[in-house]
This record gives sequence, structure tokens and C-alpha cells, in this order.
Amino acid sequence: MNTASTQPASEDYTTIIGLEVHVQLQTKTKLFCGCSTTFGAPPNTQVCPVCLGLPGSLPVMNRRAFDLAIRAALALDCTIAPFTKWDRKNYYYPDLPKGYQISQYDLPFSSDGALEVSDPKGAFASRKVRIIRVHLEEDAGKSMHDEAAGKADSRIDLNRAGTPLCEIVTQPDLRSPQEARAWLNELKLLLVYLGVSDCNMQEGSLRVDANINLHIPVGERIAKTPIVEIKNMNSFRSVERALTYEAARQWEEWRATGAELGTSPKQTRGWDDPAGVTRAQRHKEESSDYRYFPEPDLVPVTVSEAEVAAARAAMGEPPTVLRRKLAETWSISAYDADVLVNQGRDLVSYFEDLAARIGEGKLASNWMQQDVLRTLNERGGSIKDFPIRPDALADLVGRVRNGDFDTSRGREIFAEMLASNKTVAEVVGSMGIAAVGDDEMLSLCRELIAANPKIVADVKGGKEQAAAGLIGQAKKKNPNVNPGKVRALCLDLIRQMG
Ligand SMILES: [Zn+2]
Repeated sequence: MNTASTQPASEDYTTIIGLEVHVQLQTKTKLFCGCSTTFGAPPNTQVCPVCLGLPGSLPVMNRRAFDLAIRAALALDCTIAPFTKWDRKNYYYPDLPKGYQISQYDLPFSSDGALEVSDPKGAFASRKVRIIRVHLEEDAGKSMHDEAAGKADSRIDLNRAGTPLCEIVTQPDLRSPQEARAWLNELKLLLVYLGVSDCNMQEGSLRVDANINLHIPVGERIAKTPIVEIKNMNSFRSVERALTYEAARQWEEWRATGAELGTSPKQTRGWDDPAGVTRAQRHKEESSDYRYFPEPDLVPVTVSEAEVAAARAAMGEPPTVLRRKLAETWSISAYDADVLVNQGRDLVSYFEDLAARIGEGKLASNWMQQDVLRTLNERGGSIKDFPIRPDALADLVGRVRNGDFDTSRGREIFAEMLASNKTVAEVVGSMGIAAVGDDEMLSLCRELIAANPKIVADVKGGKEQAAAGLIGQAKKKNPNVNPGKVRALCLDLIRQMG
């Protein structure tokens, strides 16, 4: 299929997208046993009779996992159920030796939430995405097909079996692949801020399945294409690409066959990232195929209002609240607040420290974005290890603001502070940079005026911009001068000449 030549116009249909996200909770141990959840251990070294499902072993719920899940659900505006239970989801697969997964079926611990996403750059309007439910379940193991060097075999690693997962299911409220990606970014940011999960997709801590179909106006009615569930997307970028491909594919298929929702079954397709296409997979089981029944080895969980209130109080500030707070406290734009908050809590703390020291949010935000963030992007590393601490940067920014040196000089000093770990005073000393005194400035400007009668005549004739010629010469004579001060002083002197 050549999607490039048949790219449909966006007004031809509405794209309907819902997401199902599995997030690994940040616990040291598994959901129903004491085995470690540390990533990267040799295969099958983090297992015990419980997570292997050996006869006679009994699961015990990890309270820490449950508390983290409550925190996530509250942050997603969900209602917490006062009574919740566990169910067995039965299916056979080599990486599930128990033959069932402990999950939650008809009484999930939370439901009816929402998470809003907006784009301060204005690519799409703000959108509230409703969340149907958030429930807890244990992960299965991992099958590794042909992953051992060149051998056509399959191996099973059960280290993951029993790892606590939160499953977050949205209503189909998203309307474009770009929105879906932005919403996932917001979800990830939220869960990382609250310490619920590290959301590391490479390590499998966050996995996404997406449901998509098209609503196509045909005369008076809306034709709906069959819903497709896309799997195997290993980055948010892949999610956006897969959904973009799939929307175009469904449009083509509908034009060719007219297949509609209800007349053909729900399909599962896998994303082939290198090829950039989705491919049909096995028929997806209906929930009745899993023969859910209540888990007899675990007691139901009751959650009191007091426990919910305590969890809410201990939750910490989610990104939405923090963005508003930064914008209000420091008089910075929504866009600036967004850039800072999206970098994570440590960077926000650094910014708040810097802004408080210099007493000016916008100036602090400019230095954060133009200098600190740019440096982090170029060099890598985290703000925690950034060599220039907020007090040292505040010293530099304060001196630039006072006119001790101009911004470009300030940047040179910043670079030298980064390279040498020196303070502003030490760098200024070693670079031979000194603030230029008033007398020195006055004699320099007088000298420039005397040497440039043409510029003086132009300025007197009303062309103030001609004074720019004097600044270049002043910088040559003394690189430490502040261009703004030179300009103001020269204009003053010329005016005094009458
Ligand atoms: Zn175990």
C-alpha cells in the first residue's frame, strides 16, 4: 500500500483512539511474594514457589504495591472502591507456568478517572481523556524467541513473573496519533513525579496497546471501521507512527471493501517498527475465554475513607498543579512552566532555588532554558550532577543584570565555570575580566565620540541606531565594557553637545 499517494484529507474522517497502558509499580519486591523486581538479573534467579505457582504455595499481597496503585489512581482522578477483590485470569502460555494470572475482573480497585492533556505550542486543543478503570495485576514471565546468538530456540525467563502492574484503560477519547503520544508523555510524567513507576519502556516498565478506528461521515450516517488493537510498540514515537499508519490503512481498506464495525471481528495487529507497518496477528480472546473466577487464596481488600484521605495527603504535587504554581509564583508563561516541569522534579527544584535567589522568575527561566538545559542536552547527565549549583549561577546572573558584564560575556564565564568548576569571582579573575569603572567608561566614550564625527552627526540628525558603530569599537578597546551602558552614555554625551 502506498500511503503517501493516498493520504486522506483529515476532514474525510475522525480518528478514534483509546489506550491500554501497563505500568510496573516501583516496588522492591513482587506483588504476592518477596522475590526481587530488580531488572537485568540472570534468568530465573528471582523466583520462588509462589511466583512459579508450585502446588501448596500461598500468595500474600504486597501492601506497598497496593498503596502505589492507590496513589496512581488518585492522581488520575479515579474513585477508589471501598471493597476490591482478586480474580484468576486463566490461559495457557509457556511463560505462565501457573496457568493463570492474578488480576482484577469485575471489582477493580478504582474507576472513572480522567487525565487532561494540552499542547502549549497550540498544535491541538486541550483534551480531557476519561479513564474507565485502573486495576492491579501480576506480570507473566518473558519468552525469548531466537534471542540467544543464532540459535532457533525459545527460552523462558520467569524473573518478571509476579511483578506488580497497574493497568490503565482509557475511553476512546483521543482524536489523533499526536494527541495519543502527548497524552502518554503526560501520563509518564505524572507517574514518575509521584514515584509510582520509573516508566522505563526499554526495561518493560511501561507498555502500551492502542485501539483505533475511524468514524466516516457518509451522507446522514457515520460509518465506523472495525476496531483494531495495535501491539508491540516499544516507544511513544512508535505509538504515534503505528497509529498514523493504521488510520491510513483503515481508510484505504474501508474505501476498498466498505467493511464496518459489527460485521467483521475486532482485529489484533502487531507493529513492525523497521518496516513501518502493522501486521495481522492471532484472533484476540474475548474475556469469556479467560474463565475469570475469584482468587480463592487471597482475601478481598477493603479501603477506608481515612486511608484514601491519607494517600491523597501524601501524594505530592502532580505536574498540572506544579505548572500552575510556577506560572503564578514566578510570573512566567504557561509555555515556560511547561518546559521546566516536563524536565522533571529535580530541574524544577533547581529553577525554584535559582529564581528565589535572584528574585526574578523570567530571568531565571531564560537562563535555565537557554544555558542549563542546552548544556544538559549537549552533554547528557542529570541536573542533580550539574556542576554549576543554583547559588553560583545566581551570582553570575545577578552580576549580568547589574551590568558588571553583558550577556555574551556572561555566557563565556558560564562556559568556563562548567569547564573548571570555579566560582564567578575566580573565573573573572583568571580571565582578566573586571567591571569597568565609571571614570574609565566616561573617558572611553569621549574618546569614541571625538574619533567618530560622522556617527555623531548621524545621531544628531535623528539616526540613533548609528550609535551601534560606537559599541563595536568600544568592545575592541575594552572587551569588558557593557554594550548597553556604552550606548546610553554615548547618546547622553552627544545630546549634551547640543
Ligand atoms: Zn517469588
